[in-house]
Amino acid sequence: MNRIHSFAHATLDLLLPPHCPSCAIEVPTQGTFCAACFTALNFVTAPLCQACGLPFATAADAGHDSTCPNCRAYPPPWGHARAAFLYDDASRRLILPLKYADRQENAAVLATHMARAGRTLLAQADLLVPVPLHRWRLFRRGFNQAGLLAQTLARRASRPMCLDALVRARRTRVLGTLSAADRAHELAGAFAIRPSRAGTVPGRRVLLIDDVLTSGATAAACAHVLLDAGARHVDVLVASRVPDPRWRQGPQAELA
Ligand SMILES: [Zn+2]
Ligand SMILES: [Zn+2]
Repeated sequence: MNRIHSFAHATLDLLLPPHCPSCAIEVPTQGTFCAACFTALNFVTAPLCQACGLPFATAADAGHDSTCPNCRAYPPPWGHARAAFLYDDASRRLILPLKYADRQENAAVLATHMARAGRTLLAQADLLVPVPLHRWRLFRRGFNQAGLLAQTLARRASRPMCLDALVRARRTRVLGTLSAADRAHELAGAFAIRPSRAGTVPGRRVLLIDDVLTSGATAAACAHVLLDAGARHVDVLVASRVPDPRWRQGPQAELA
């Protein structure tokens, strides 16, 4: 069913004039944004937290170590996380259709900007691994959006990839507004290395791929599993970055 849909989309794209991937108005070149959407999108640029990729408002906010207060208080298990866009109305218009409306062509547009934001991480990576979906969700949706992004990035950057190195061992609730402790509890044991892929991870510098990074709890759980399986290092590359709502109240809110 999804394949037929994708084929229909691909065929339509060949017949239709190039359109903005965000608002669908006509543009001169396929895969480029119209001026209004380009202006509305918040591309993540320096200065940013070297650990979680969250942009700082000013260079002065970066402090002496370019690390945000949250990462200083709770160092993530990965080395560097980078995002192409901030998660807002404009980037949501690219990501939600990829996830829920089978607009798989949006993966190419997102991957273009992820490759820009994560150029160094991609060049250093010797294995790209997507955050997995639970198999029931995968069955319903027909594809894993993180897998599609990883495939596109691996092909473009000529990096090795293992689509199913990680498995979601059980379903998890939407993490939403759960506290840091509840998120960790919800994700404990949720991810595992697929036994048949256990040999792909040891000694590798892994780049974990996902569509959205929010609190980082999911990426952290995956990074721990990869490091426990022998990965030499884990970095994270996502399409968009949501500032954790609790951070706006300062890192103390995270402790509460
Ligand atoms: Zn547009
Ligand atoms: Zn940070």
